[in-house]
Amino acid sequence: MEKIDCQGCGVLIQTSDPDATGYTPKTSLEKENILCKRCFRLKHYNEIQDVSYTDDDFLKMVSNIRGENGLVVHVIDIFDVNGTLIKSLPRIVGDKPIILVGNKIDLLPKSTNKRKLNQWLRASAKEAGIKVKDVFLISSVKGYGIEELTHQIELIRKKSNVYIVGTTNVGKSTFINRIIKQATGYGEVITTSYFPGTTLGFIEIPLDDNTSLIDTPGIVNKRQIAHYVSEQDLKVITPNKEIKPRVYQLNSQQTLFFGGLARFDFIKGEKQSFVCYFSNEIPIHRTKLENADNLYKTQRGELLSPPSEKTLEILPEFTQTTFRITNEKTDIVFPGLGWITITGENVTITAHSPKDVTVSIRRSLI
Ligand code: GDP
Repeated sequence: MEKIDCQGCGVLIQTSDPDATGYTPKTSLEKENILCKRCFRLKHYNEIQDVSYTDDDFLKMVSNIRGENGLVVHVIDIFDVNGTLIKSLPRIVGDKPIILVGNKIDLLPKSTNKRKLNQWLRASAKEAGIKVKDVFLISSVKGYGIEELTHQIELIRKKSNVYIVGTTNVGKSTFINRIIKQATGYGEVITTSYFPGTTLGFIEIPLDDNTSLIDTPGIVNKRQIAHYVSEQDLKVITPNKEIKPRVYQLNSQQTLFFGGLARFDFIKGEKQSFVCYFSNEIPIHRTKLENADNLYKTQRGELLSPPSEKTLEILPEFTQTTFRITNEKTDIVFPGLGWITITGENVTITAHSPKDVTVSIRRSLI
């Protein structure tokens, strides 16, 4: 059989093992656009199958580009910077120029200061040891910022290949589809979905006679909460429109639950407001700190949901971290879920999150 790549994800097509990646029935080989079973199901039934590559395989595949010349475009999810910034990027891709792209900017409230956000991203990359040539904020879904970015890519790439790199679920496929659409007016080419790990193989889109835009497989980052929730819950926690901040006036010794996926205890400090930036679909529940443990024990998956039953099977237990905030305006970030902005000084809080999905703090973005 000649080598055929899936038109959706780029994986090598095979017709012998229905359970392995790249399977398609022999009868489908006659079709013009051949899709693997996984992409076929996704396209026609909006249903995703499990990823069968291990993290190691992902890494190995992506590190194939180490020796090549080219420009790296690292796409991250602006809503989950900690979970999607690949700290080992320079090690994986070698000494190539890197453009950092913060995607899903449409999710942030309109009041977000883009210039500040851009600077913060640049600083975060630097802190992680990633030297970036430029930083862009875009929305692949709405098309914001795409033109400026593609213009800059053309300038920097100097007639070499462009590698699009990112962890799963940052919107890499949506971004590439957008570029293709812009360039050719052509519809959907690469599979896009809610679910992490959709883009399995390398896919090449010719830029000119000699060079291509290359979509690399998504790297799985265990710190992304997306890996610990069911498909149904992922739809709930992933915002799909602009986040409406929810403001809570709390006294010390009060607790907020975000479904049953995160918990925030206001331990010490004066009465003040806490601004919560989470998907509008995640219910927030306020209670007294003294009742919080019991509520969690008896109501997780019930009143405190998501997690749904399915998620409860895979979700790690909470771990907690305590922060004392002395600066003005700090964000407590629950990666992939959202963040809480604290405006007061001298505040002590405890954040609870599923193990591995580590909570962090930063200077307020908004
Ligand atoms: P990939 O795994 O990185 O290729 O990610 P996909 O392109 O499959 O996108 C993952 C999810 O993020 C899908 O539900 C997309 O609709 C969504 N998404 C991608 N780009 C954007 C964006 O700019 N804004 C918003 N709100 N959602 C996006």
